[in-house]
Amino acid sequence: PTVSPFLEPGLRTKPRSLAILQLSRDNLLPIYLQEASGEHDGYAEGAVVNTRYGSFPHSTMLNVPWGSQIRASKVDTGSRGRKRKRGPKDDASRDDAEENQPETADNNDTEATGVKQAVADDSGFIHVLPPTPELWTQSLPHRTQVVYTPDYSYILHRIRARPGSTIIEAGAGSGSFTHASVRAVYNGYPSSAEDRKGKVFSFEYHEERYHKMKKELTDHNLDGLVHLTHRDVYNGGFLIDGKSPEADAIFLDLPKPWEALPHLSRRKPQTQAKEGEDIAAEWVSPLNPKRAVHICTFSPCIEQVTRTVSAMRRLGWVDIDMVEIANRKLHTIRDRVGLHYQTDRGVNVSPHDVEEALERLAEIEERVREQAARPRGAGEDGAEDADTVMKNGDDAAKKDNDKTLAEQPPFQTPWVDGRLITKGEPEIKTHTSYLVFAVLPREWTEEDEAAAFAKYPCGK
Ligand code: SAM
Repeated sequence: PTVSPFLEPGLRTKPRSLAILQLSRDNLLPIYLQEASGEHDGYAEGAVVNTRYGSFPHSTMLNVPWGSQIRASKVDTGSRGRKRKRGPKDDASRDDAEENQPETADNNDTEATGVKQAVADDSGFIHVLPPTPELWTQSLPHRTQVVYTPDYSYILHRIRARPGSTIIEAGAGSGSFTHASVRAVYNGYPSSAEDRKGKVFSFEYHEERYHKMKKELTDHNLDGLVHLTHRDVYNGGFLIDGKSPEADAIFLDLPKPWEALPHLSRRKPQTQAKEGEDIAAEWVSPLNPKRAVHICTFSPCIEQVTRTVSAMRRLGWVDIDMVEIANRKLHTIRDRVGLHYQTDRGVNVSPHDVEEALERLAEIEERVREQAARPRGAGEDGAEDADTVMKNGDDAAKKDNDKTLAEQPPFQTPWVDGRLITKGEPEIKTHTSYLVFAVLPREWTEEDEAAAFAKYPCGK
């Protein structure tokens, strides 16, 4: 299959592939790039993304290196000279585009210049970025609360997701965690349904969400890597056609994780067995029998945590602990306050001191005036042209080099020399959830012991 752009985006944008347009720092817009096919969406150029930063025909964003800056274009509607109509097949950009529609785009609609290509226009620019789980989390259509990057990066590390791992996830929700987890386990596309080469088994019981997610997985070429099942896992458990997915790791983002936990055991839990029933018989565990399994449950309330932990203890999970990620953005800058500049006259000036700062400003202005008054290229008659200034600078630097470091006046470039200071957000914005982690050890049978002994005999 075509490899998902989330996993191997290649070097350049491609037709029909997902791209994330960065309109401004925190304003991201996912779109599927379309090839121009004559009249599309009312524009002669094909599909166009309209934003407050200008209009961007898809044709200008195709086959360019990922990360490219794209300049806004004057768009043309051919010779019709009518207002553009919104079609039913509008792309994801539409709501945002409608809101941000610049006056100029509609004006262009009525100009009817007859030009078939978009022409460069200086009104704005955007960047075209390859899809990553992080960018997708910031830009995906929300159907539910989602798990954000600070949480899922920590979760995936703690549940030991790595290339080749098999993960069980429930519920799928908006697919934010799904995209991050599939990248973590990706180890090439499995050759068959039975091939367990790094897969995510995801479960969602809400029908509409299930269908939307299914389509998204197909659009993102993740079908072979994420197996999505429409099911209530409290009642139906985690087997696939009665077979075990052999999960190495589990992530539960459900209102009642303790109702799903009995299905995630190695043997049929006593609580689920009928009177006199052989609990070892007819029980297929969804877990990898050869490995300790790591789990994380994600719950907003402490009462949910208490019930989950209690169920885990009963079901034999060990190393149970709870973590809350308190994510805080840190803004690191160089602080010029308190720096002393040395003026040309050797005076130390502190910007704290208004008078001295004004003196420094006047000096700079004087120099600028002097330089502007000098004839350009008049190197011979003693005036400094650019080359002379550089040469003089070199000579001065050479002289300085001959001195010892201690003798040199401090060379100060405030943007480099300022004190490095880090400001945090005053408060951590929102509580996301409590993360409960635990491990279910692998079972060790007499056969395992015999096999281990045969391989590594002790005492011989
Ligand atoms: N982790 C997801 C993400 O990052 O986008 C968000 C999950 S959302 C908070 C919880 C989802 O669990 C909902 O979509 C809900 O329909 C689903 N859900 C709740 N109970 C379920 C059950 N018993 N079986 C399967 N899915 C369930």
